[in-house]
Amino acid sequence: MQNLLDLEPAALAQFFAERGEKPFRARQVSRWLHQRFAGDVASMTDLAKPLRAALAGVAEIRAPSVLRDTTASDGTRKWLLDAGNGNAVEAVYIPEDDRGTLCISSQAGCALDCAFCSTGRQGFNRNLTTGEIVGQLWHANRTLLAEGIRGPWVDAGRAPITNVVMMGMGEPLANFDNVVPALRTFLDDNAYGLSRRRVTLSTSGLVPWIDRLRDECPVALAVSLHAPTDALRDRLVPINRKHPLSTLMAACVRYLERAPRDFVTFEYVMLDGVNDQPGHAQALIALVRDVPCKLNLIPFNPFPDSGFATSPRERVRAFAHALQDAGIVATIRKTRGDDIDAACGQLAGRVHDRTKRRLAARIPIVAAH
Ligand code: SAH
Ligand code: SF4
Repeated sequence: MQNLLDLEPAALAQFFAERGEKPFRARQVSRWLHQRFAGDVASMTDLAKPLRAALAGVAEIRAPSVLRDTTASDGTRKWLLDAGNGNAVEAVYIPEDDRGTLCISSQAGCALDCAFCSTGRQGFNRNLTTGEIVGQLWHANRTLLAEGIRGPWVDAGRAPITNVVMMGMGEPLANFDNVVPALRTFLDDNAYGLSRRRVTLSTSGLVPWIDRLRDECPVALAVSLHAPTDALRDRLVPINRKHPLSTLMAACVRYLERAPRDFVTFEYVMLDGVNDQPGHAQALIALVRDVPCKLNLIPFNPFPDSGFATSPRERVRAFAHALQDAGIVATIRKTRGDDIDAACGQLAGRVHDRTKRRLAARIPIVAAH
């Protein structure tokens, strides 16, 4: 069976062409899938009955199934999704007054092993398919709409999720072949129709793939910097040994030639005593001098045996002020969903292990929502 969520716009057009259908059929089905969130072919009522019957025999709509659904006190909501073989990934919905953001995963686990990341600690399990990546957005929109979510843009007929950030589990550029078709689906007018500025991909710095993304599907770019020198970054973000800072900064500048925004967002996790000293701020200012950028300082989210601690609030503020004094736009990320472990870098860490044990023991998981 062909999972229709696996097909990016061009592939969906080809799927229908191969069946002798006109291109507008693909667009029609795409709108059913990605704008009305149809759960099966039978509900696509403006398709002729014989076509529906034929489609039902060869195609299905399959998003990852939900293992657990939890909502934090601040409204942040986390879906734990089955990735098979005891693996789980997460999608996190972050509601705000003027937008709905979904943080999406691209891999079960991650091979890049950044020192402070609980996803990295799990090791790499597998790449998610395009359908599993698109399925996260499909599922969030479908669920929120069915529950009657309100908001000015929803009342005006737009989907609940207005912004996507590829900042969940995994390194999206290490799963380029499945991530880019998903991005194209997010952007397509007959699918989610999001503007390139509202889709952000975060990478730890896979330089050749940053160039490919620029050429094939530029969206807003966030780069996980976390250290201003190669010596320190080699330790914190091991991929730096392969793609050091000078090449990474050059790739960012090249990216900006085609990017939908005129800056790159640098993420910088604040680790107590490791990368949060005044000297680090000064080195960082020098490093990014020639790259139009914004700095996003992320309070470290601790997890058991991480070996790191969160920088004190005052030190984060001082660090931000040092950057601002040098003319750099610097913000401190508000932590969201703390009480359900939904914040950056915590995704499916502890939860994953617990769930794995439950799956192994075949104990049913009851939705906590
Ligand atoms: N692999 C990609 C995207 C997923 S991680 C990347 O590394 O960019 C999303 C962000 O969360 C990255 O900036 C990552 O460095 C950060 N992060 C990872 N672990 C964290 C932790 N424990 N606390 C705070 N941020 C963390
Ligand atoms: Fe992978 Fe990103 Fe975690 Fe590094 S920070 S281990 S690249 S998910």
